[in-house]
Amino acid sequence: MIRENVRKILDSIPEGVRLVAAAKTRTAREVLEAVDAGIRIIGENYIQEAVDVYNEVGKKAEWHFIGHLQKNKVKKAVKIFDIIETVDSYGLAMEIDKRCGQAGRVMPVLIEVNSGKEEQKYGVRPEEVISLARDISKLSNVRVTGLMTMGPLFGDPEDSRPYFVVTRKVFEELKSEALPDVEMKYLSMGMSNSYKVAIEEGSNLVRIGTLIFGERG
Ligand SMILES: *Cc1c(COP(=O)(O)O)cnc(C)c1O
Repeated sequence: MIRENVRKILDSIPEGVRLVAAAKTRTAREVLEAVDAGIRIIGENYIQEAVDVYNEVGKKAEWHFIGHLQKNKVKKAVKIFDIIETVDSYGLAMEIDKRCGQAGRVMPVLIEVNSGKEEQKYGVRPEEVISLARDISKLSNVRVTGLMTMGPLFGDPEDSRPYFVVTRKVFEELKSEALPDVEMKYLSMGMSNSYKVAIEEGSNLVRIGTLIFGERG
């Protein structure tokens, strides 16, 4: 099933949109099946789970961190991930900068936008994104390469559209700021039930779990 699911999704997304297999709770075996079917990016939410899967899958795909990153997990994250999609504070960016400095590498990051301005959600409010990007642009081992948002979760994907529109608007604003060392390459929006709407609103990185692997247990 995983193979057919991956093929179907890859066939349905336009050229220029990249697919992240959101792999939380999935086994290395399931992830390998997805990679064999054409998945090129794996998204993980939890460091320990990521380590376990990474040990078996390795560099067969690109690794994106898509969960909430605690500072005490950054050192491990830097060993595995090619991109961290969920930077939402300068403190976290500084920790990534420090650990990447020690590891001799630069980490591309996306700023997570709390597009629904929800109290309990992670991410920075849309009006705070540019100032955070400006601060991060001064760190030499972290490079802002775009934005990510979850948005409030709805049954009807149309209800997500306004939050994608808001995030796209901030993306364009930040792009026109043309900050040094900020490269607005990725707009990461859309999950299994909302990715089509997200692509219509400018997403070029969709994070899909359920439609690839089935319902989580
Ligand atoms: C789980 C998860 C997804 C994928 O969700 P599905 O509804 O299973 O497609 C996407 N993004 C993030 C950040 C997630 O945690």
